Amino acid sequence: MLTQRSRALETVQTRKKIEVLRPSVRVSDYFNKNVFNDIAMKQYLTKDAYNAVKKAINEGHQIDRAMADQVANGMKAWAIANGVTHYTHWFQPLTGATAEKHDSFFEPTDDGGAVEKFSGNALVQQEPDASSFPSGGIRNTFEARGYTAWDPSSPAFIMESSNGKTLCIPTVFVSYTGEALDYKAPLLKSLHAVENAVVNVCSSFFDKNVTKSFASLGIEQEYFLIDEAMYFARPDLMLCGRTLLGHMPEKGQQLEDHYFGSIPMRAYDFMVDLETECYKLGIPLKTRHNEVAPSQFECAPNFEEVNLAIDHNQLLMDVMEKVAERHNLKVLLHEKPFAGINGSGKHNNWSLITNTGVNLLAPGHTPKENLMFITFFVNVIKAVYDHADLLRASIASAGNDHRLGANEAPPAIMSIFIGSQMTEILEELLGGKATKSKNAAGSISVIKVPEILRDNTDRNRTSPFAFTGNKFEYRAVGSNANSANAMIALNTAMANQLNVFKKDVEAHVAKGKKKEDAILEVLKTYYKASKPILFEGNGYGDEWVKEAAKRGLSNIKNTPEALNAYISKKSKELFTSNKIFNDIELEARYEIMQENYVKKIDIEAKVLMQLATSHVLSAALSYQRNLAENIKAMKDAGLSKADYEVQFNLIKEISAHIKAIQTNTAKLSAELDKAHHIENTGKRAVAMVNKVKPLFDPIRASADALEFLVDDELWKLPKYREMLFIK
Ligand code: ADP
Ligand code: MG
Repeated sequence: MLTQRSRALETVQTRKKIEVLRPSVRVSDYFNKNVFNDIAMKQYLTKDAYNAVKKAINEGHQIDRAMADQVANGMKAWAIANGVTHYTHWFQPLTGATAEKHDSFFEPTDDGGAVEKFSGNALVQQEPDASSFPSGGIRNTFEARGYTAWDPSSPAFIMESSNGKTLCIPTVFVSYTGEALDYKAPLLKSLHAVENAVVNVCSSFFDKNVTKSFASLGIEQEYFLIDEAMYFARPDLMLCGRTLLGHMPEKGQQLEDHYFGSIPMRAYDFMVDLETECYKLGIPLKTRHNEVAPSQFECAPNFEEVNLAIDHNQLLMDVMEKVAERHNLKVLLHEKPFAGINGSGKHNNWSLITNTGVNLLAPGHTPKENLMFITFFVNVIKAVYDHADLLRASIASAGNDHRLGANEAPPAIMSIFIGSQMTEILEELLGGKATKSKNAAGSISVIKVPEILRDNTDRNRTSPFAFTGNKFEYRAVGSNANSANAMIALNTAMANQLNVFKKDVEAHVAKGKKKEDAILEVLKTYYKASKPILFEGNGYGDEWVKEAAKRGLSNIKNTPEALNAYISKKSKELFTSNKIFNDIELEARYEIMQENYVKKIDIEAKVLMQLATSHVLSAALSYQRNLAENIKAMKDAGLSKADYEVQFNLIKEISAHIKAIQTNTAKLSAELDKAHHIENTGKRAVAMVNKVKPLFDPIRASADALEFLVDDELWKLPKYREMLFIK
């Protein structure tokens, strides 16, 4: 009988090349074609409606209902002209994926006909049946009232599929009592907070012309591509997004020949197709290349304002899956789809930019500009140092646990890499040491910072949070994550820090200090206080673990433990005083994330037990029977024990693994059962990580040993080497 594996192997061999159709050779011909952007708005909105939307975007004003009707009308006309039949509010609930509920424009009329309708009410607010989205107890299911509300700062767009087009309206998702049930609502609040803080600091101390600012974000997205036939033959990939079993391939990434190597043909075609779809949606994909592991790739867009960058990244992940389907491929966004092979991350390149066009994390041309740069630079360091545990929590997930601290990705210890040039500059300017050189402590007139700090030899890939010349790169975010969690934490910490900074400087000025001196004085104390988080060495080494402990830095290895930082006194104070979350929302989020962790491990445990039993054991038993028959035949032929010793030993070895799988599966089942009886979600999650998950390892060890021993013909699951090298 053909196994699914052998069928998959055959299917892969006979794949035909997929032609990619591009609307035009020039991207500029179709970039933003499916976005209700400024150009489309000018064409389809009345002047009043256009101005109302612009005002809403620029000043955060509400649009009144009469105006909303006008905007909706224009949007509908644009959408229908582009072949759209349905609309949906597009939102980001805490499930991790994006959510949509489509409604048709069409409405029947009394005379038996129909019209296409889209009212201002439908644009501004929708009430999805929200009962099955996680709310962490905020909203009881019997009182399932939540609503989505339009976020005009992210433009509406058209999602195309082979069978129709849908108008998608980016929205926030809140409960009727006002608590956020999604990522976007708190993200927008945190961005607002950091904008205010930046403007206050800039206009008070550096430049009166700074009246607006925004946080920028460029997200590098790593992913794997495998043939879909392989995917469908691996229940673990289908249900958990990662392989729970699999012997390491003979050739993995040890030859280091994949990174930046030439892109395999099928992946290349996929990328071209993906880029085409992304350009229509206004996602500015700029870079594509191979990553370290076989079948691992990366794409990166031009940076954008954070809210838009995150919407685009969420959309990108969605489009990736849809496009992959056309190429008979599956995109694996899990942080660690294959044990022993590099995992995937989502590097968040972040900075702060003013309406005067200044990147506050890039060196300037004059001493005054450099004082501003160093001010923001040191405040980032202080913010990250003070809220390191919260930042660690903001990237915690069951998937990311496999990366963090697993000797390949950024470690679970939060540290900041700033490079040798910045280290020297800070040391001289703020370190309080008498030195020979240009930045003799104390006076701003001598601050010298090279205008270009991009020293490519000075890249440190092992740091979770690295300065890269004109931005910080938060590397520890998981490939599958919604970056909002990380960005909410970072921007809130930064907003808070800048507010404290302003007060600290003002206190010095009130005592008669000159402004510049006051700034330097305050920066000196921050630098001294947060120095332990600065680390330039190898983040993967054991020495760093010891050194970090000496410096008092946390090393939080797993999600259930990390998440505690969301409900610590310090974080609660940070979030509530900056009006990002209230206590109820924080408790709810904590509950949802712990619950989510429990669910992930629960599913993995069940899939593992199932695979170990119905796939691995059955193959091992068949092979064992073959060996026994072989021995019997040799005996019958008059051969002696010495002649069939090899078969005999093999049977014994296989039996030992079979026994081990059975024993450990029984143990796993018992521990899982025990864990499920724990009422408290946080404690249940701790049981999952400490009692349940460790039992995966011995089961996997035996299964992988059997994969090595058992006749290849009998093995039912596609092997790593078969999945990992697409052509
Ligand atoms: P690197 O070589 O450091 O990875 P790239 O220039 O390739 O640098 O940029 C990586 C990502 O960082 C891209 O998405 C890019 O748009 C983004 N980026 C560059 N400058 C900024 C900035 N000022 N703010 C936010 N992101 C930025
Ligand atoms: Mg980078």
